[in-house]
Amino acid sequence: MPEPSATESAAEPAIAIRNLVKEYAAQRGAPAKLALKGISLDVPEGGIFGLLGPNGAGKSTLINIMAGMVMKTSGTIRIWGHDIDRDHRNGKLSIGIVPQEIVFDPFFTPFEVLENQAGMYGVARALRRSEELLRAVHLSDKRDAYARSLSGGMKRRLLIAKAMVHSPPVLVLDEPTAGVDVELRRQLWELVTELNREGVTVVLTTHYLEEAEQLCERIAIIDHGELIANKPTRELVGMMREKIVRVSLDREIAAPPADPAFSKVEMIEPRTLEITYHRDRSSAGQVLAAIQRHGYAIEDVTTREPDLEDVFVQLTSRVREQA
Ligand code: ADP
Ligand code: MG
Repeated sequence: MPEPSATESAAEPAIAIRNLVKEYAAQRGAPAKLALKGISLDVPEGGIFGLLGPNGAGKSTLINIMAGMVMKTSGTIRIWGHDIDRDHRNGKLSIGIVPQEIVFDPFFTPFEVLENQAGMYGVARALRRSEELLRAVHLSDKRDAYARSLSGGMKRRLLIAKAMVHSPPVLVLDEPTAGVDVELRRQLWELVTELNREGVTVVLTTHYLEEAEQLCERIAIIDHGELIANKPTRELVGMMREKIVRVSLDREIAAPPADPAFSKVEMIEPRTLEITYHRDRSSAGQVLAAIQRHGYAIEDVTTREPDLEDVFVQLTSRVREQA
């Protein structure tokens, strides 16, 4: 794996993105699309970093710019200390990208796919790792099969091996588990975790929030081409640890009661309150007891867990409120 050059300070992030803008030009009647609206983001070295966001947020655009597959409109990206415009070659050598779309020449074998890719990156024959990579992704027995005969999961694993032929210090995976079954997902995450343990900085996009929660030390969320959160996962999950309970009371409420057990209380009907509480600090039982302490009798209770949709809505509106 390439070592950072001596000119870099230890504080240099694995990836540094500044004011990144991408506008897709208008074409065939479709208007121009501002897909990235000035994103600035650092990916620290050594961890697993999650890049989340709803469909169309701009995740693939950002990754494809790093991969050199999409031209940015403006802004800068440094990968492992190398500006991708001024030092394109070292930038490219420092990153391996697993794209969202699976594309292989169906007539090449997995071994050939890796050898060809190594050739494209100018990896000397003696330094090639095709066999080792095939072992790592559990495809040694498919070494000489046609790529078209591989299952979807095998193709995903081959794509990861392909992204690693030049031993980049940074690996980026764009939705590697979208539409993949549970068992294969587990295998992919083992593989990613293993690479990370060996020192590879990993960036991945996914819209499975639980998955990101388990794997990533830090999570950035983009929405409509804007960065709306970038926090250690613990903090972000804390923001999602909210539960909502709706209670119907025996009589009309003069004013919504305040209580340390509630993080938010809203009167949605004259006799109905919607109370948000933090599940690490309170419980449904404590919330109900508090309401009774305020002198009300409870006639009906419903609770719900915030889902991913809530989290995005919550984060988007929260950030807009603060702005
Ligand atoms: P994500 O990966 O987060 O789902 P994308 O980066 O694929 O989002 O897309 C971001 C926005 O840019 C979307 O509105 C999408 O329709 C648009 N977009 C993506 N690729 C192109 C393209 N080649 N030409 C025009 N618009 C595009
Ligand atoms: Mg995408």
